[in-house]
Parts: sequence; structure tokens; C-alpha cells
Amino acid sequence: MKIAVTSGKGGTGKTTIATMLAYSCDNPQYIDCDAEEPNGHLFLKPRIERVEPFNVLVPKINEDICTFCGKCAEACVYKALVVMGEPLKKTMFFDDLCHSCGACAYVCPVEGALVEMPQEVGKFKFGKAGHIDFVMGELNIGEASATQLIANLKKRYMDESKTVILDSPPGTSCTVVETIEGSDYVLLVTEPTPFGLSDLKLSVELVRNMGLKFGIVVNKHEEGNSLIDDYARDENIEILFRLPFSEDFARSYSKGELPFEEFKDDFKGLLKRIEERV
Ligand code: SF4
Ligand code: SF4
Repeated sequence: MKIAVTSGKGGTGKTTIATMLAYSCDNPQYIDCDAEEPNGHLFLKPRIERVEPFNVLVPKINEDICTFCGKCAEACVYKALVVMGEPLKKTMFFDDLCHSCGACAYVCPVEGALVEMPQEVGKFKFGKAGHIDFVMGELNIGEASATQLIANLKKRYMDESKTVILDSPPGTSCTVVETIEGSDYVLLVTEPTPFGLSDLKLSVELVRNMGLKFGIVVNKHEEGNSLIDDYARDENIEILFRLPFSEDFARSYSKGELPFEEFKDDFKGLLKRIEERV
């Protein structure tokens, strides 16, 4: 079973829920797909056993045989290539804009003028956090290949014999779509605040458009605050779990420690509810 944990915005407790859920599973694989800002390792504290580079292909132009026709630059929708013809006869490549789509290489009419070369843009890390198989993708700062990294992470390393917990990036961009696509269930983590609700609505729209099963988890729940409950009732969405606000919890969180054992049974209950809905 593959469970994706996401949220409409950062800082809502998405990684808290994802790591605590992973801890409560019997045979879990936790995959941190929040490649631009992975932080599951701060709480799970895995022993990293293996690191692999993540390479993408980027163009390299041989100006000795390039005719400076400009076709590669025209094909690049990301404006990562600039070609200056006569009299300058120069090309410029901006690797932080390149999405490794291969369009420039496809259109270049001169054999050998533009070749695709591997470039390391991030890393995959593998380890163990107690009984949890830990995998994370980490993009180098400033790189633009997060979606590709996530796609590779899932395709190459997801172990479907386990209960897979995918810790998604926040928001509703293509990195989130790539992470949650193919999941059996999506948990939308939110906080009971107007901002939390506003971002939750965007996430709901996304998962509905993708046709995925989903439910809400309310983090920092406070008795008497019915903001999310009212919305969920009106939209006919189930709230699967409420993690109460507690100062002790917040203190532990700020030290990078989560009360995994204390909440284990609660998260086992959440897992059971997800299983029933899948
Ligand atoms: S398409 Fe090929 S030949 Fe034309 S400018 Fe680009 S690299 Fe040079
Ligand atoms: S690989 Fe794609 S994004 Fe990168 S320079 Fe070529 S056309 Fe542009």
C-alpha cells in the first residue's frame, strides 16, 4: 500500500504525520520526496548506509562545429540556452534553468554539435531508522530537477512489498503531482487556521482532479475550533485523524524529537482507517 502525505503549504506538520505514521507501521518504507527541503531525517535520525548521485542530462555545445543556427535555443522553453550568431558566434548555457527535457538535442541538425552529458544535481540516500526503511531524495541548492528526481526515486527505489509512506513536498505544483500520483490514499495535513483552510482547499481540488482517494488530518487540533470540520462536512470529506495541540509536543518537535512511542497506537488506528478505505 502506498500512502502519500501532503499539505497545501509548508509548516503544517506534514512530516510529523508522515514519520509518526511510518513509525507505527509493521513493515514500512519511508520515502522523503520533499527533495528541495527534506527534513524527515531530522526526526527519524536514520543510519545512512548508502548514497547515490542523481544525474540528469544537460547539453554541451561544441562551438567548433556548431553553425550557430539557434534552433536549440528556439526549442528551449525554459530559456536555458542563448545562441549568438555572426559576428559573435557564441553560445551560453544556464544550467540552473535547464530541465533536462532533451528538446535542444532533438532539434540540433549538426551531428556532434550538441551532446547531452550527465550532471549531478542531487543525491539519493538510503538507510535504516529502527524498523523503518529510510529513503530520501535531496536536490542540490538551486537545481530545477525536483520533479525528475522524485520520478526516479519512486520508479527505482519504491518497495511495494512494504507499506510505503511518501512524504510529499507542500503545495500543489508538479512535484506534488509526481509524488502523490499512483498512491492508494492521500492524507491532506492541515491546521485549523484560515490560511490552513485556504491551502487545504487547493489540495482538495488537486486530489479530486487526480481521482485519488483522500482524507484530512488536522494537526494542532483545538477543542472548540470547528473551521476544518465545517468545511469537511460541507464538502463531504472525511477527517481521519486529529492531532491535538500540545505545548509539550511543540517543545519536543523544536528539539527534533517526536513522541513516536506515545502516539503509536493512535497512528496505528489511523493506518487501520486508511486500510479500510483503500
Ligand atoms: S542547434 Fe546545434 S548547430 Fe544550431 S546553434 Fe544549437 S548546437 Fe549549434
Ligand atoms: S535540455 Fe531542455 S531545458 Fe535543458 S537546455 Fe535543452 S531544451 Fe532547454
